[in-house]
Amino acid sequence: MPRPALFLDRDGVIVHDTGYLSDPAKVALVPGTAALIRAANAAGVPVLVVTNQSGIDRGLLDWEDFAAVEARIADLLAAAGAATDATAACPFHPDHTAGYDKTHARWRKPGPGMITALADRLNIGLPGSWLIGDQPRDIEAARNAGLAGGILTGDPIRPDRALELDNLAQCGFTLHAARSPDAAMAFLKTTILFDNC
Ligand SMILES: [Mg+2]
Repeated sequence: MPRPALFLDRDGVIVHDTGYLSDPAKVALVPGTAALIRAANAAGVPVLVVTNQSGIDRGLLDWEDFAAVEARIADLLAAAGAATDATAACPFHPDHTAGYDKTHARWRKPGPGMITALADRLNIGLPGSWLIGDQPRDIEAARNAGLAGGILTGDPIRPDRALELDNLAQCGFTLHAARSPDAAMAFLKTTILFDNC
């Protein structure tokens, strides 16, 4: 039976977004996120990270830098008793990837490619799964992948985002706004993702 999962954006959700993060020494967890991941771990909900990393095709970091940052994140989470289960990263960008076309666009959020690829590999049921992101394009990717819903963290009520978000909340997809990881988890516990807890 496919299991539902919790998909997380990385930069701005798990770690502070410093812009094209390439130095492990600059990794800092967003407060509350480790507890959120730990709760998902305890509930047996897979935690899957989907992260746009256009800094790679921009030439600002390479995959070794990315791996070093990932290792640091894993260490910090482990120290807090938390672990993610898998990560997908997309290096593409329309202005920086040679021959960028719809194949690349499917991988890069708001494309659903990273979410659906992880779901295929790990037997994840998308209709019961949720995503937490700090950008409308994260939420759009969740909707494009057919998830139950998306949680937008941070300050979701900027006027320039209102219309974008209104559009996202349509068509049987639930959009929820949460100002903190704690608030996101409190909401998730009311959804079918944590039905058994
Ligand atoms: Mg982000």
